[in-house]
Amino acid sequence: EPTIPATFKDPLAVLNDVFGYAAFRGEQEDVVRHVTEGGDAVVLFPTGAGKSLCYQIPALCRRGVGIVVSPLIALMRDQVEALRQAGVQAAALNSSLSREESYQVRRDLMDGKLDLLYVAPERVATAGFQNLIADADIALFAIDEAHCVSQWGHDFRPEYRDLNQLAELFPGIPRVALTATADAVTRADIIERLGLGEARVFATSFDRPNISYTIVERDNARQQLLACLARHKGESGIVYCLSRAKVEDTAEWLDGQGIRALPYHAGLDAGVRSANQDAFLKEDGLCLVATVAFGMGIDKPDVRYIAHLDIPSSVEAYYQETGRAGRDGLPSEAWMSYGMADVVQRRRMIQEGNAPDTVKRVELGKLNALLGICETVDCRRKAILAHFGEAHPGHCGNCDTCLSPVESFDGTEAAIKAMAAVYRTGQMFGAGHIVDVLTGKVTEKVKRFGHDNQPVFGAGKDMDAKTWQSVLRQLTAAGLIAIDHNAHGALTLSEDARAVFRKERTVTLRRDRPRKTTKQLRAQK
Ligand code: ADP
Ligand code: ZN
Repeated sequence: EPTIPATFKDPLAVLNDVFGYAAFRGEQEDVVRHVTEGGDAVVLFPTGAGKSLCYQIPALCRRGVGIVVSPLIALMRDQVEALRQAGVQAAALNSSLSREESYQVRRDLMDGKLDLLYVAPERVATAGFQNLIADADIALFAIDEAHCVSQWGHDFRPEYRDLNQLAELFPGIPRVALTATADAVTRADIIERLGLGEARVFATSFDRPNISYTIVERDNARQQLLACLARHKGESGIVYCLSRAKVEDTAEWLDGQGIRALPYHAGLDAGVRSANQDAFLKEDGLCLVATVAFGMGIDKPDVRYIAHLDIPSSVEAYYQETGRAGRDGLPSEAWMSYGMADVVQRRRMIQEGNAPDTVKRVELGKLNALLGICETVDCRRKAILAHFGEAHPGHCGNCDTCLSPVESFDGTEAAIKAMAAVYRTGQMFGAGHIVDVLTGKVTEKVKRFGHDNQPVFGAGKDMDAKTWQSVLRQLTAAGLIAIDHNAHGALTLSEDARAVFRKERTVTLRRDRPRKTTKQLRAQK
Protein backbone atom coordinates (compact mmCIF):
# COMPACT_ATOMS: atom_id res chain seq x y z
CA GLU A 1 0.00 0.00 0.00
CA PRO A 2 1.49 3.37 -0.96
CA THR A 3 1.99 5.77 1.93
CA ILE A 4 0.33 9.14 1.59
CA PRO A 5 2.91 11.83 2.22
CA ALA A 6 2.08 14.22 5.03
CA THR A 7 2.78 17.11 2.68
CA PHE A 8 1.15 17.05 -0.65
CA LYS A 9 0.62 20.60 -1.80
CA ASP A 10 3.02 23.38 -2.59
CA PRO A 11 2.62 26.43 -0.31
CA LEU A 12 3.13 28.96 -3.09
CA ALA A 13 0.50 27.25 -5.24
CA VAL A 14 -1.95 27.41 -2.32
CA LEU A 15 -1.14 31.09 -1.77
CA ASN A 16 -1.81 31.81 -5.46
CA ASP A 17 -4.77 29.57 -6.10
CA VAL A 18 -6.69 29.63 -2.84
CA PHE A 19 -5.91 33.09 -1.46
CA GLY A 20 -5.23 34.85 -4.74
CA TYR A 21 -1.99 36.49 -3.60
CA ALA A 22 1.03 36.64 -5.89
CA ALA A 23 3.81 36.40 -3.33
CA PHE A 24 4.52 35.78 0.32
CA ARG A 25 5.20 38.75 2.52
CA GLY A 26 8.45 39.05 4.42
CA GLU A 27 9.11 36.06 6.64
CA GLN A 28 5.71 34.50 5.98
CA GLU A 29 7.23 32.04 3.54
CA ASP A 30 9.85 30.80 6.02
CA VAL A 31 7.19 30.13 8.64
CA VAL A 32 4.88 28.42 6.18
CA ARG A 33 7.62 26.12 4.87
CA HIS A 34 8.89 25.31 8.36
CA VAL A 35 5.42 24.40 9.70
CA THR A 36 4.39 22.58 6.53
CA GLU A 37 7.46 20.40 6.97
CA GLY A 38 6.31 19.59 10.49
CA GLY A 39 8.26 22.06 12.63
CA ASP A 40 6.99 23.94 15.67
CA ALA A 41 7.02 27.72 15.48
CA VAL A 42 6.59 30.83 17.58
CA VAL A 43 5.52 33.71 15.35
CA LEU A 44 5.98 37.26 16.62
CA PHE A 45 4.77 39.53 13.84
CA PRO A 46 3.04 42.87 14.25
CA THR A 47 -0.62 43.32 13.43
CA GLY A 48 -1.31 43.31 9.73
CA ALA A 49 1.82 41.32 8.89
CA GLY A 50 -0.28 38.36 7.78
CA LYS A 51 -0.06 35.87 10.63
CA SER A 52 -3.22 33.98 9.65
CA LEU A 53 -1.69 32.58 6.46
CA CYS A 54 1.22 31.28 8.55
CA TYR A 55 -1.01 28.49 9.82
CA GLN A 56 -3.80 28.44 7.22
CA ILE A 57 -1.49 27.53 4.34
CA PRO A 58 0.38 24.76 6.20
CA ALA A 59 -3.00 23.38 7.28
CA LEU A 60 -4.01 23.19 3.63
CA CYS A 61 -0.68 21.77 2.51
CA ARG A 62 -0.57 19.05 5.13
CA ARG A 63 -2.87 16.10 5.41
CA GLY A 64 -5.74 16.45 7.88
CA VAL A 65 -7.42 19.30 9.67
CA GLY A 66 -5.70 22.31 11.20
CA ILE A 67 -7.03 23.07 14.68
CA VAL A 68 -6.95 26.76 15.52
CA VAL A 69 -7.33 28.00 19.07
CA SER A 70 -8.79 31.49 19.06
CA PRO A 71 -10.08 33.53 22.00
CA LEU A 72 -12.98 35.41 20.45
CA ILE A 73 -16.12 34.06 18.83
CA ALA A 74 -16.50 37.14 16.60
CA LEU A 75 -12.96 36.70 15.36
CA MET A 76 -13.54 33.04 14.58
CA ARG A 77 -16.70 33.85 12.68
CA ASP A 78 -14.97 36.39 10.44
CA GLN A 79 -12.08 34.06 9.67
CA VAL A 80 -14.34 31.10 8.90
CA GLU A 81 -16.51 33.27 6.68
CA ALA A 82 -13.52 34.57 4.71
CA LEU A 83 -12.06 31.08 4.34
CA ARG A 84 -15.32 29.64 3.07
CA GLN A 85 -15.51 32.37 0.48
CA ALA A 86 -12.09 31.28 -0.70
CA GLY A 87 -13.41 27.72 -1.01
CA VAL A 88 -11.71 26.36 2.11
CA GLN A 89 -13.62 23.85 4.25
CA ALA A 90 -13.55 25.80 7.50
CA ALA A 91 -15.75 25.61 10.58
CA ALA A 92 -15.84 26.76 14.18
CA LEU A 93 -16.97 24.96 17.30
CA ASN A 94 -18.19 27.37 19.93
CA SER A 95 -21.04 28.17 22.24
CA SER A 96 -22.86 30.25 19.62
CA LEU A 97 -23.78 27.20 17.52
CA SER A 98 -27.14 25.47 17.67
CA ARG A 99 -27.22 21.77 18.52
CA GLU A 100 -27.71 20.88 14.85
CA GLU A 101 -24.91 23.12 13.65
CA SER A 102 -22.57 21.72 16.23
CA TYR A 103 -23.52 18.18 15.24
CA GLN A 104 -22.82 18.94 11.59
CA VAL A 105 -19.35 20.29 12.39
CA ARG A 106 -18.52 17.13 14.37
CA ARG A 107 -19.81 14.96 11.53
CA ASP A 108 -17.69 16.85 8.97
CA LEU A 109 -14.66 16.53 11.20
CA MET A 110 -15.10 12.78 11.59
CA ASP A 111 -15.63 12.38 7.87
CA GLY A 112 -12.34 14.16 7.27
CA LYS A 113 -14.04 16.94 5.37
CA LEU A 114 -12.57 19.88 7.23
CA ASP A 115 -9.41 21.79 6.39
CA LEU A 116 -9.57 24.13 9.37
CA LEU A 117 -11.44 23.99 12.64
CA TYR A 118 -11.53 26.98 15.00
CA VAL A 119 -12.14 26.30 18.69
CA ALA A 120 -12.23 28.27 21.91
CA PRO A 121 -9.37 27.54 24.33
CA GLU A 122 -11.65 26.28 27.12
CA ARG A 123 -12.97 23.59 24.80
CA VAL A 124 -9.59 22.16 23.87
CA ALA A 125 -8.99 20.82 27.37
CA THR A 126 -12.33 19.02 27.60
CA ALA A 127 -12.48 15.23 27.37
CA GLY A 128 -15.29 15.53 24.83
CA PHE A 129 -13.18 17.49 22.41
CA GLN A 130 -10.11 15.37 22.90
CA ASN A 131 -12.14 12.24 22.15
CA LEU A 132 -13.56 13.93 19.11
CA ILE A 133 -10.18 14.65 17.59
CA ALA A 134 -8.44 11.51 18.89
CA ASP A 135 -9.10 9.64 15.64
CA ALA A 136 -8.93 12.62 13.32
CA ASP A 137 -6.01 13.33 11.05
CA ILE A 138 -4.56 16.52 12.46
CA ALA A 139 -2.42 18.72 10.27
CA LEU A 140 -1.35 21.12 13.01
CA PHE A 141 -2.36 23.12 16.06
CA ALA A 142 -2.33 26.90 15.82
CA ILE A 143 -2.54 28.96 19.00
CA ASP A 144 -3.62 32.47 18.05
CA GLU A 145 -3.18 35.45 20.42
CA ALA A 146 -0.66 33.30 22.27
CA HIS A 147 0.16 36.11 24.74
CA CYS A 148 -3.10 35.14 26.49
CA VAL A 149 -1.22 32.20 28.05
CA SER A 150 1.01 34.49 30.07
CA GLN A 151 -0.01 36.38 33.13
CA TRP A 152 2.71 38.87 32.21
CA GLY A 153 0.86 39.48 28.94
CA HIS A 154 -1.80 42.14 28.76
CA ASP A 155 -4.73 39.81 28.25
CA PHE A 156 -4.22 36.75 30.45
CA ARG A 157 -6.79 34.00 29.95
CA PRO A 158 -6.40 31.09 32.36
CA GLU A 159 -8.01 28.69 29.83
CA TYR A 160 -4.89 29.05 27.71
CA ARG A 161 -2.84 27.31 30.41
CA ASP A 162 -4.45 23.98 29.51
CA LEU A 163 -2.99 24.15 26.02
CA ASN A 164 0.29 22.84 27.43
CA GLN A 165 -1.31 19.38 27.21
CA LEU A 166 -1.31 19.41 23.42
CA ALA A 167 2.35 18.49 23.08
CA GLU A 168 1.92 15.41 25.23
CA LEU A 169 -1.44 14.31 23.86
CA PHE A 170 -0.52 14.79 20.24
CA PRO A 171 3.22 14.24 19.88
CA GLY A 172 4.59 14.84 16.44
CA ILE A 173 1.85 17.23 15.39
CA PRO A 174 3.34 20.65 14.64
CA ARG A 175 2.29 23.53 16.85
CA VAL A 176 2.48 27.18 15.97
CA ALA A 177 1.90 29.97 18.50
CA LEU A 178 1.25 33.46 17.18
CA THR A 179 1.04 36.91 18.73
CA ALA A 180 1.39 40.54 17.77
CA THR A 181 2.03 41.83 21.23
CA ALA A 182 4.50 40.42 23.68
CA ASP A 183 7.36 42.05 25.53
CA ALA A 184 10.50 40.04 26.22
CA VAL A 185 9.21 38.61 29.54
CA THR A 186 5.92 37.54 27.96
CA ARG A 187 7.66 35.92 25.01
CA ALA A 188 9.81 33.77 27.26
CA ASP A 189 6.72 32.86 29.25
CA ILE A 190 4.76 31.83 26.13
CA ILE A 191 7.58 29.53 25.08
CA GLU A 192 7.81 27.96 28.53
CA ARG A 193 4.06 27.63 29.17
CA LEU A 194 3.34 26.05 25.82
CA GLY A 195 6.38 23.79 25.86
CA LEU A 196 7.81 25.39 22.73
CA GLY A 197 11.45 25.45 23.84
CA GLU A 198 12.47 23.60 20.69
CA ALA A 199 10.33 25.67 18.35
CA ARG A 200 11.82 28.05 15.84
CA VAL A 201 11.12 31.66 16.71
CA PHE A 202 10.19 33.99 13.88
CA ALA A 203 10.21 37.67 14.72
CA THR A 204 10.05 40.64 12.40
CA SER A 205 10.51 44.25 13.28
CA PHE A 206 7.60 45.77 15.14
CA ASP A 207 8.25 49.16 13.62
CA ARG A 208 5.35 50.68 11.73
CA PRO A 209 7.20 53.47 9.95
CA ASN A 210 4.09 54.90 8.28
CA ILE A 211 2.47 55.62 11.65
CA SER A 212 3.40 58.93 13.25
CA TYR A 213 3.12 59.10 17.04
CA THR A 214 1.94 62.09 19.02
CA ILE A 215 1.23 62.12 22.74
CA VAL A 216 0.02 65.31 24.38
CA GLU A 217 -0.68 66.16 27.98
CA ARG A 218 -4.36 66.86 28.39
CA ASP A 219 -5.21 70.49 28.48
CA ASN A 220 -8.56 70.91 26.81
CA ALA A 221 -9.25 67.43 25.53
CA ARG A 222 -12.01 68.29 23.08
CA GLN A 223 -10.17 71.20 21.46
CA GLN A 224 -7.03 69.09 21.27
CA LEU A 225 -9.02 66.31 19.59
CA LEU A 226 -10.58 68.73 17.10
CA ALA A 227 -7.14 69.99 16.16
CA CYS A 228 -6.08 66.41 15.54
CA LEU A 229 -9.18 65.56 13.49
CA ALA A 230 -8.72 68.71 11.42
CA ARG A 231 -5.67 67.00 9.92
CA HIS A 232 -7.91 64.15 8.77
CA LYS A 233 -10.89 65.72 7.01
CA GLY A 234 -12.83 63.12 5.04
CA GLU A 235 -10.70 60.26 6.36
CA SER A 236 -11.69 57.25 8.48
CA GLY A 237 -10.45 56.82 12.01
CA ILE A 238 -11.15 55.55 15.50
CA VAL A 239 -11.39 57.58 18.71
CA TYR A 240 -10.89 55.37 21.78
CA CYS A 241 -12.41 56.26 25.15
CA LEU A 242 -12.23 54.38 28.43
CA SER A 243 -15.93 54.44 29.34
CA ARG A 244 -19.16 53.79 27.47
CA ALA A 245 -20.64 57.08 28.65
CA LYS A 246 -17.67 59.00 27.29
CA VAL A 247 -18.00 57.14 23.97
CA GLU A 248 -21.58 58.29 23.60
CA ASP A 249 -20.93 61.87 24.73
CA THR A 250 -17.94 62.22 22.44
CA ALA A 251 -19.70 60.78 19.39
CA GLU A 252 -22.65 63.09 19.88
CA TRP A 253 -20.43 66.10 20.40
CA LEU A 254 -18.31 65.36 17.32
CA ASP A 255 -21.47 65.01 15.26
CA GLY A 256 -22.46 68.47 16.44
CA GLN A 257 -19.08 69.75 15.26
CA GLY A 258 -19.83 68.55 11.75
CA ILE A 259 -17.74 65.38 11.97
CA ARG A 260 -19.72 62.27 11.11
CA ALA A 261 -19.22 60.06 14.16
CA LEU A 262 -20.86 56.87 15.44
CA PRO A 263 -20.51 55.19 18.84
CA TYR A 264 -19.44 51.59 19.46
CA HIS A 265 -19.32 49.78 22.80
CA ALA A 266 -20.43 46.47 24.28
CA GLY A 267 -23.43 48.07 25.99
CA LEU A 268 -25.12 49.08 22.74
CA ASP A 269 -27.89 47.02 21.24
CA ALA A 270 -26.35 44.29 19.03
CA GLY A 271 -28.17 45.62 15.97
CA VAL A 272 -26.89 49.16 16.44
CA ARG A 273 -23.41 47.88 17.11
CA SER A 274 -23.14 45.85 13.95
CA ALA A 275 -24.77 48.61 11.89
CA ASN A 276 -22.19 51.10 13.16
CA GLN A 277 -19.38 48.67 12.53
CA ASP A 278 -20.61 48.04 8.98
CA ALA A 279 -20.91 51.76 8.34
CA PHE A 280 -17.34 52.24 9.50
CA LEU A 281 -16.07 49.44 7.27
CA LYS A 282 -17.99 50.49 4.17
CA GLU A 283 -18.24 54.27 4.27
CA ASP A 284 -15.45 56.74 3.77
CA GLY A 285 -14.60 59.41 6.26
CA LEU A 286 -16.40 58.04 9.28
CA CYS A 287 -15.15 58.57 12.81
CA LEU A 288 -15.95 55.62 15.05
CA VAL A 289 -15.89 56.49 18.74
CA ALA A 290 -15.35 53.27 20.65
CA THR A 291 -14.22 51.46 23.75
CA VAL A 292 -11.56 48.77 23.34
CA ALA A 293 -14.45 46.38 22.63
CA PHE A 294 -13.95 47.50 19.04
CA GLY A 295 -11.10 46.54 16.83
CA MET A 296 -9.87 42.99 17.33
CA GLY A 297 -10.02 41.22 14.02
CA ILE A 298 -11.16 44.32 12.14
CA ASP A 299 -9.34 44.47 8.84
CA LYS A 300 -9.87 47.92 7.36
CA PRO A 301 -6.78 48.95 5.43
CA ASP A 302 -7.34 52.72 5.24
CA VAL A 303 -7.83 53.76 8.86
CA ARG A 304 -5.93 57.08 8.82
CA TYR A 305 -5.93 57.96 12.51
CA ILE A 306 -6.34 56.39 15.93
CA ALA A 307 -7.00 58.90 18.70
CA HIS A 308 -6.89 57.95 22.39
CA LEU A 309 -8.78 60.26 24.70
CA ASP A 310 -7.66 58.20 27.70
CA ILE A 311 -4.43 56.37 28.37
CA PRO A 312 -4.62 52.66 27.41
CA SER A 313 -3.77 49.96 29.92
CA SER A 314 -0.28 49.06 28.67
CA VAL A 315 2.27 49.59 25.92
CA GLU A 316 1.04 46.37 24.34
CA ALA A 317 -2.55 47.62 24.25
CA TYR A 318 -1.42 51.01 22.92
CA TYR A 319 0.67 49.34 20.24
CA GLN A 320 -2.15 46.98 19.27
CA GLU A 321 -4.77 49.72 19.12
CA THR A 322 -2.63 52.23 17.24
CA GLY A 323 -1.55 49.39 14.95
CA ARG A 324 -5.02 49.42 13.43
CA ALA A 325 -4.05 52.58 11.58
CA GLY A 326 -2.38 52.46 8.20
CA ARG A 327 -2.48 48.79 7.37
CA ASP A 328 -2.25 49.85 3.73
CA GLY A 329 1.17 51.33 4.43
CA LEU A 330 0.13 54.94 3.80
CA PRO A 331 0.91 57.75 6.27
CA SER A 332 -1.34 57.55 9.34
CA GLU A 333 -1.45 59.12 12.76
CA ALA A 334 -1.54 57.71 16.27
CA TRP A 335 -2.57 60.48 18.64
CA MET A 336 -3.14 60.38 22.38
CA SER A 337 -4.05 62.86 25.06
CA TYR A 338 -3.38 61.73 28.60
CA GLY A 339 -3.72 63.26 32.01
CA MET A 340 -3.06 62.19 35.56
CA ALA A 341 -6.81 61.80 36.08
CA ASP A 342 -7.10 58.84 33.70
CA VAL A 343 -3.90 57.34 35.09
CA VAL A 344 -5.43 57.54 38.56
CA GLN A 345 -8.66 56.03 37.25
CA ARG A 346 -6.78 53.16 35.61
CA ARG A 347 -4.85 52.53 38.81
CA ARG A 348 -8.06 52.43 40.78
CA MET A 349 -9.60 49.98 38.29
CA ILE A 350 -6.61 47.69 38.73
CA GLN A 351 -6.54 48.00 42.51
CA GLU A 352 -10.26 47.42 42.90
CA GLY A 353 -10.36 44.49 40.48
CA ASN A 354 -10.45 40.89 41.72
CA ALA A 355 -7.17 39.80 40.19
CA PRO A 356 -4.59 38.28 42.54
CA ASP A 357 -1.98 40.69 43.90
CA THR A 358 0.75 39.37 41.64
CA VAL A 359 -1.36 40.17 38.57
CA LYS A 360 -2.27 43.60 39.92
CA ARG A 361 1.39 44.44 40.35
CA VAL A 362 2.09 43.39 36.79
CA GLU A 363 -0.79 45.51 35.54
CA LEU A 364 0.43 48.53 37.46
CA GLY A 365 3.90 47.95 36.05
CA LYS A 366 2.47 47.83 32.53
CA LEU A 367 0.57 51.06 33.02
CA ASN A 368 3.75 52.70 34.35
CA ALA A 369 5.70 51.50 31.32
CA LEU A 370 3.25 53.28 29.05
CA LEU A 371 3.34 56.37 31.23
CA GLY A 372 7.12 56.27 30.84
CA ILE A 373 6.66 56.46 27.07
CA CYS A 374 4.24 59.37 27.49
CA GLU A 375 6.85 61.20 29.55
CA THR A 376 9.93 60.39 27.53
CA VAL A 377 11.99 63.14 25.94
CA ASP A 378 13.37 60.56 23.56
CA CYS A 379 11.96 59.44 20.22
CA ARG A 380 8.58 57.76 20.88
CA ARG A 381 9.22 55.10 18.27
CA LYS A 382 12.51 54.20 19.89
CA ALA A 383 10.83 53.92 23.30
CA ILE A 384 7.95 51.80 21.99
CA LEU A 385 10.27 49.43 20.15
CA ALA A 386 12.60 49.22 23.15
CA HIS A 387 9.63 47.89 25.10
CA PHE A 388 9.47 44.98 22.67
CA GLY A 389 13.20 44.40 22.99
CA GLU A 390 13.96 45.95 19.63
CA ALA A 391 16.79 48.44 19.16
CA HIS A 392 16.08 51.57 17.13
CA PRO A 393 18.55 54.42 16.61
CA GLY A 394 15.90 57.03 17.49
CA HIS A 395 15.39 60.36 15.73
CA CYS A 396 12.74 58.74 13.54
CA GLY A 397 11.55 62.12 12.34
CA ASN A 398 7.96 60.90 12.50
CA CYS A 399 6.94 61.42 16.11
CA ASP A 400 6.19 64.53 18.16
CA THR A 401 9.32 64.40 20.31
CA CYS A 402 11.49 64.15 17.19
CA LEU A 403 9.63 66.93 15.38
CA SER A 404 9.39 69.37 18.26
CA PRO A 405 11.75 68.49 21.09
CA VAL A 406 10.24 68.80 24.55
CA GLU A 407 11.66 70.97 27.28
CA SER A 408 14.19 68.89 29.12
CA PHE A 409 17.08 69.12 31.53
CA ASP A 410 20.24 67.19 32.23
CA GLY A 411 18.93 64.56 34.62
CA THR A 412 22.15 62.64 35.03
CA GLU A 413 22.50 63.58 38.72
CA ALA A 414 18.86 62.67 39.43
CA ALA A 415 19.26 59.41 37.54
CA ILE A 416 22.34 58.51 39.55
CA LYS A 417 20.52 59.23 42.83
CA ALA A 418 17.52 57.16 41.79
CA MET A 419 19.59 54.26 40.54
CA ALA A 420 21.81 54.38 43.63
CA ALA A 421 18.69 54.07 45.77
CA VAL A 422 17.68 51.00 43.76
CA TYR A 423 21.15 49.52 44.08
CA ARG A 424 21.74 50.31 47.75
CA THR A 425 18.47 48.71 48.79
CA GLY A 426 19.39 45.49 47.03
CA GLN A 427 17.29 45.75 43.83
CA MET A 428 14.41 44.14 45.70
CA PHE A 429 11.87 46.95 46.00
CA GLY A 430 9.19 48.56 43.87
CA ALA A 431 8.99 52.21 42.83
CA GLY A 432 6.91 53.31 45.85
CA HIS A 433 9.54 52.26 48.37
CA ILE A 434 12.42 53.68 46.33
CA VAL A 435 10.65 57.05 46.24
CA ASP A 436 10.16 56.90 50.02
CA VAL A 437 13.88 56.28 50.44
CA LEU A 438 14.82 59.11 48.09
CA THR A 439 12.52 61.63 49.71
CA GLY A 440 13.49 60.51 53.20
CA LYS A 441 10.07 59.32 54.27
CA VAL A 442 10.22 57.20 57.42
CA THR A 443 7.79 54.36 56.84
CA GLU A 444 7.43 51.07 58.67
CA LYS A 445 9.14 49.32 55.75
CA VAL A 446 11.99 51.83 55.68
CA LYS A 447 12.64 51.18 59.37
CA ARG A 448 12.27 47.40 59.09
CA PHE A 449 14.99 47.24 56.45
CA GLY A 450 17.13 49.93 58.04
CA HIS A 451 17.02 52.00 54.88
CA ASP A 452 16.97 55.21 56.92
CA ASN A 453 20.62 54.46 57.69
CA GLN A 454 21.57 54.35 54.02
CA PRO A 455 23.46 57.35 52.60
CA VAL A 456 20.82 57.60 49.83
CA PHE A 457 18.06 58.08 52.39
CA GLY A 458 16.63 61.56 51.81
CA ALA A 459 19.18 62.25 49.06
CA GLY A 460 16.37 63.34 46.79
CA LYS A 461 14.61 65.78 49.10
CA ASP A 462 15.04 68.51 46.51
CA MET A 463 12.24 67.02 44.40
CA ASP A 464 8.78 65.82 45.36
CA ALA A 465 7.51 62.25 45.27
CA LYS A 466 5.56 62.76 42.05
CA THR A 467 8.64 64.00 40.24
CA TRP A 468 10.66 61.01 41.46
CA GLN A 469 7.93 58.65 40.28
CA SER A 470 8.20 60.26 36.87
CA VAL A 471 12.01 60.02 36.93
CA LEU A 472 11.80 56.28 37.70
CA ARG A 473 9.29 55.76 34.87
CA GLN A 474 11.47 57.68 32.45
CA LEU A 475 14.52 55.65 33.47
CA THR A 476 12.48 52.49 32.90
CA ALA A 477 11.34 53.70 29.50
CA ALA A 478 14.99 54.47 28.68
CA GLY A 479 15.92 50.89 29.56
CA LEU A 480 18.20 51.86 32.49
CA ILE A 481 15.91 50.33 35.08
CA ALA A 482 14.02 47.07 34.59
CA ILE A 483 10.98 45.76 36.41
CA ASP A 484 11.24 42.20 37.68
CA HIS A 485 7.72 40.80 37.55
CA ASN A 486 8.91 37.55 39.07
CA ALA A 487 10.00 39.46 42.18
CA HIS A 488 6.90 41.50 42.99
CA GLY A 489 7.72 44.24 40.52
CA ALA A 490 11.10 45.01 42.08
CA LEU A 491 13.19 47.58 40.25
CA THR A 492 16.56 46.34 39.08
CA LEU A 493 19.40 48.00 37.20
CA SER A 494 20.18 47.11 33.62
CA GLU A 495 23.67 46.73 32.14
CA ASP A 496 23.40 50.23 30.65
CA ALA A 497 23.06 51.79 34.11
CA ARG A 498 26.77 51.31 34.71
CA ALA A 499 27.71 53.81 32.00
CA VAL A 500 25.61 56.45 33.76
CA PHE A 501 27.30 55.83 37.14
CA ARG A 502 30.67 56.13 35.41
CA LYS A 503 29.48 59.39 33.82
CA GLU A 504 30.08 57.93 30.39
CA ARG A 505 26.49 58.52 29.53
CA THR A 506 24.18 61.42 30.34
CA VAL A 507 20.45 61.18 30.95
CA THR A 508 18.00 63.75 29.67
CA LEU A 509 14.74 64.09 31.57
CA ARG A 510 11.51 65.83 30.78
CA ARG A 511 11.05 69.07 32.62
CA ASP A 512 7.87 69.00 34.64
CA ARG A 513 5.95 71.69 32.86
CA PRO A 514 3.78 73.97 34.94
CA ARG A 515 0.08 73.58 34.11
CA LYS A 516 0.03 77.05 32.62
CA THR A 517 2.84 79.11 31.24
CA THR A 518 3.68 82.39 32.90
CA LYS A 519 2.42 84.17 29.80
CA GLN A 520 -0.98 82.49 30.13
CA LEU A 521 -1.07 83.29 33.83
CA ARG A 522 -0.27 86.93 33.12
CA ALA A 523 -2.98 87.09 30.48
CA GLN A 524 -5.48 85.84 33.06
CA LYS A 525 -4.94 88.80 35.35
P1 ADP B 1 -2.34 39.66 11.32
O1 ADP B 1 -3.10 38.47 11.83
O2 ADP B 1 -0.86 39.46 11.35
O3 ADP B 1 -2.77 40.95 11.93
P2 ADP B 1 -3.76 39.08 8.90
O4 ADP B 1 -3.45 37.64 8.83
O5 ADP B 1 -5.11 39.48 9.35
O6 ADP B 1 -2.66 39.81 9.78
O7 ADP B 1 -3.42 39.75 7.50
C1 ADP B 1 -3.58 41.12 7.29
C2 ADP B 1 -4.01 41.40 5.88
O8 ADP B 1 -2.95 41.13 4.96
C3 ADP B 1 -5.17 40.52 5.42
O9 ADP B 1 -6.05 41.31 4.67
C4 ADP B 1 -4.50 39.48 4.56
O10 ADP B 1 -5.39 38.94 3.63
C5 ADP B 1 -3.38 40.27 3.93
N1 ADP B 1 -2.26 39.43 3.51
C6 ADP B 1 -1.63 38.50 4.27
N2 ADP B 1 -0.62 37.93 3.58
C7 ADP B 1 -0.59 38.50 2.37
C8 ADP B 1 0.22 38.34 1.18
N3 ADP B 1 1.22 37.46 1.15
N4 ADP B 1 -0.04 39.11 0.11
C9 ADP B 1 -1.04 40.01 0.16
N5 ADP B 1 -1.86 40.21 1.21
C10 ADP B 1 -1.64 39.47 2.31
ZN1 ZN C 1 10.80 59.74 16.70
